[in-house]
Amino acid sequence: MDLYIGVDLGGTNLHAAIAGTDGRIVVERSVPTLSHEGPSGVLTRMAQLVDALAEAAGQRPVACGVGVPGLLDLAVGTTKFLPNLPTNWRDVPLRDMLASQIGCPVYLLNVVRTATLGELMFGRGRQAKTMAFFAIGTGIGGGVVVDGKLRLGPLGAAGELGHQIILPDGPRCGCGNRGCLETLASASAIAAEGVRLLLSGQAPKLHEIVGGDAGRVSTKTMAQAAREGDTRVAEAIVRAAEYLGLGVANVVVTLHPDLVVLGGGAAAIGDLLFDTVRATVAGRIGMFPTDGVRIEPRC
Ligand SMILES: [Zn+2]
Repeated sequence: MDLYIGVDLGGTNLHAAIAGTDGRIVVERSVPTLSHEGPSGVLTRMAQLVDALAEAAGQRPVACGVGVPGLLDLAVGTTKFLPNLPTNWRDVPLRDMLASQIGCPVYLLNVVRTATLGELMFGRGRQAKTMAFFAIGTGIGGGVVVDGKLRLGPLGAAGELGHQIILPDGPRCGCGNRGCLETLASASAIAAEGVRLLLSGQAPKLHEIVGGDAGRVSTKTMAQAAREGDTRVAEAIVRAAEYLGLGVANVVVTLHPDLVVLGGGAAAIGDLLFDTVRATVAGRIGMFPTDGVRIEPRC
């Protein structure tokens, strides 16, 4: 069976896996990105990682896909702007440089669109024709599949679901706009509200859980505090989930998908998040019944 390799170019770690066409992972490994060394150092380490995994698998991959955290020129295979990596990797010919080092074709795709494709082919999307994926982490990334095909658009930027405007005069977003969904409902936005509640004495359980350390406030510790009785923390999670529900509702009226998948760190909040998003979507869409739209975590 032909094997393929996928590489996740993260700000902290390079994570790679070799898998077959059935999605079964043969071998996987992570190494530090050491992004401060710049593109050429990172590229060399990426090629070494591919070589090491090919050796472990006993077979060279026939092609390599790289999930890239930012904007790409898909036609020429260059990175245009990677906001979270030093130097921002402007116009780095990543596709051709890596291909010449590892000796097989390389395909680039934004990392959240890559995750959407993975969900479509090997996750919950196997039963869906049209789906949207929200990756709720430091920001909110997204991806959209229409009639079985990942929608990329001319710049590969279609599906930036975290940058739909939810509050016209809301907080300033990293993209320059105001009130984007990710300023209101990302894991960092939720945790920032948790820190405020902690420091203003409104979150006694959270205080106990993190030992008073604001640096340990996360969606995970907040979810625990909410379950154990911190009502202000629960309210903060519900408010963010309602904003997220508005974002999901906008996508549902646009696409009427079979499936919306919520992933990323914030999805670990669990029922409080999912129940609120589902109720918001059901309550805010009056044009057609939404019972058939599944809103699920990644599987
Ligand atoms: Zn934005």
